[in-house]
Amino acid sequence: MTSSPVARHVRDIPRSGIRDFFEVVQSMSGVISLGIGEPDFVTPWHIREAAVYSLERGLTGYTSNLGLPKLRDAIAGYVGQHFGVQYDGQTEVLVSVGVSEALDLALRALLDPGDEVIYHEPCYVSYSPSIALAHGVPVAVQTEAADGFALRAETLAAAITPRSKVLLLNFPTNPTGATMPRVELEKVAALCQRHDLIVLTDEIYSELTYDGGEHVSIASLPGMKERTIFLHGFSKAFAMTGFRIGYACAPAPLIEAMMKIHQYGILCASITSQEAAVEALRRGEPDVAHMRREYEARRNFIVGALNDLGLPCHRPRGAFYVFPDIRPSGLTSREFSLRLLKEKKVAVVPGTAFGAGGEGFVRCAYATSLPKIKTALGLVGEFLKEI
Ligand code: PMP
Repeated sequence: MTSSPVARHVRDIPRSGIRDFFEVVQSMSGVISLGIGEPDFVTPWHIREAAVYSLERGLTGYTSNLGLPKLRDAIAGYVGQHFGVQYDGQTEVLVSVGVSEALDLALRALLDPGDEVIYHEPCYVSYSPSIALAHGVPVAVQTEAADGFALRAETLAAAITPRSKVLLLNFPTNPTGATMPRVELEKVAALCQRHDLIVLTDEIYSELTYDGGEHVSIASLPGMKERTIFLHGFSKAFAMTGFRIGYACAPAPLIEAMMKIHQYGILCASITSQEAAVEALRRGEPDVAHMRREYEARRNFIVGALNDLGLPCHRPRGAFYVFPDIRPSGLTSREFSLRLLKEKKVAVVPGTAFGAGGEGFVRCAYATSLPKIKTALGLVGEFLKEI
């Protein structure tokens, strides 16, 4: 075989910068990781028990392609109550294998080759590749540390072209923890209506909003439900990453289009995970509140500690990440992360993994215990003195 049999659009996408980095981490022992974007909590017991009990009852088959009707109804109820958007559980909700699958389905359902998808950077590592794999064109707009990584409608407006079809939002944001106040979201919504953009909103971190702040979904703004695909899941708020369960809510014709791809590619999400998800929605809210309080205390500590060390860090109001400016160290993001790992056994992720605009920053996840975070920050302090 002379040339690669791999399709060009697959060849062209890079491997995830996080994965490469964590291959190095995994080859070492005794590392304190502020790297992985995954809750350190185990799924609450009553949710695990619901999964175990469903197996005991012999529930081991396929479900409806869209997901268990009782789960879809529970999702519609939860989204109505928490986000103020009313969806019909039977026609406007699709249960997916994590937000990851829901995002892929939405992009594949919406994009014709060459359609542009605008998203804000630094962002979750999978956005640009997922767009490219769906034959779309990724168009990043930069957000700035000086602005708390907020997305401004003016910046967005400048990126819109006649090929723009979709706007992909993620608040609170991975990796910056940025949130979006209602007034700014209203400006963005007006822009989407003016330019006829469809919005994909990834609200996977929405329960992790701090300082008593209000989380507003763009889907809840007037005239927006009709043009929005709302993506959410159980991985972060309920500490259920391994269950691989999420969902999309959208107008019925869009759910129908996504369902066709899901039905042929995946069939349905795991019934065990769906049973666990029903329990999470019915009785999991005290657990979410408990984990949120823990994360908030850790955020308060880590933001203060990084600033005290001379690494300027804005105070994010959501998710479980901080994105400090490491330029005072004189190192690039990658040098900083690799040397901190090799010399002090502390893992953080180079900001460039989240887009070129992340140079000069690193992502630290505080989804690890406070004592470990304190030890890690002590080691960062030693590292800064030694370099
Ligand atoms: N969106 C964002 C912003 C994320 O950070 C992640 C996971 N790190 C996902 C989606 C994927 O989540 P899931 O486990 O639901 O597939």
